[in-house]
Amino acid sequence: MEVKQIEFDSLYFDINLLSEGIYAIIFNQEMGASSNAGLFDLGNISVIFDTLMDPWATKDLIRAVKSITNREPFLLINSHYHLDHIFGNRLFSNKMPIMSSLGTFKQFDKLVAEAFDRFRTQAPTQIEATKELLQKTTDPKKIKEYENDLITYKEMQGPDFKLRPPDLIFHDKITIHGSERSVEIINIGNAHSYDDTIAYFPESKICFMGDLLFATLDPEWAKGINGTPWAVEPKNFKDVMSGYLEKDLDVYVPGHGPLCSKKEVKATIEFLEKYFLNS
Ligand SMILES: [Zn+2]
Repeated sequence: MEVKQIEFDSLYFDINLLSEGIYAIIFNQEMGASSNAGLFDLGNISVIFDTLMDPWATKDLIRAVKSITNREPFLLINSHYHLDHIFGNRLFSNKMPIMSSLGTFKQFDKLVAEAFDRFRTQAPTQIEATKELLQKTTDPKKIKEYENDLITYKEMQGPDFKLRPPDLIFHDKITIHGSERSVEIINIGNAHSYDDTIAYFPESKICFMGDLLFATLDPEWAKGINGTPWAVEPKNFKDVMSGYLEKDLDVYVPGHGPLCSKKEVKATIEFLEKYFLNS
């Protein structure tokens, strides 16, 4: 599959055209290991798969949808509840609904709220650290990044700051049928988190995997990340990855890192076997 990079001015990500109407938003690794997103132009409607942690990156994503598709997005899907994927929800117009699985939705009152409280508590320390970094750099891109970060940390501490939960809840699978192409939104059950959701284009041989797939893996994750387990249900996680490895797919879009192929899917299966299922 020939992947074409779309010209778009953003500090935070590159836009890859995978197949007509199907775009992978790949976070710029120089800006950290933050998450990816998807943009699906289905012909008459546009769908977004996940937001980006940095609000400025999500603002660029909203700008990208409008510039590429010439329309407002129809729907946003959250792949799972982790803060880096849902933090940008609030930046979208209230006229556009957000959809998730039940497992993701349920965490907005629980683990999302807890994670956000932790994040907010860290804000004053982060502000000091960012101010120091800002003083030391002369790189205009870094200066812009740190200035944006400072605005974000300050905004987050405000009393009116609220995360936006999904409006629509789906159970097993939903097909979004556009005039040019369709996408299958599938709840694969508990794996990396609760009711993880993927976006599957069988005809184009592309699957957006959310955080079921990382371009690179770290054995440290076996211990969890900041108290969050990396695999809630390792057995199902492995079975799902084995199933999608067998499918006729060319591109697997990971939740983090550059575009993947079957090689990284196999690595994930081996990683789960070695660090999570080896008992
Ligand atoms: Zn995650």
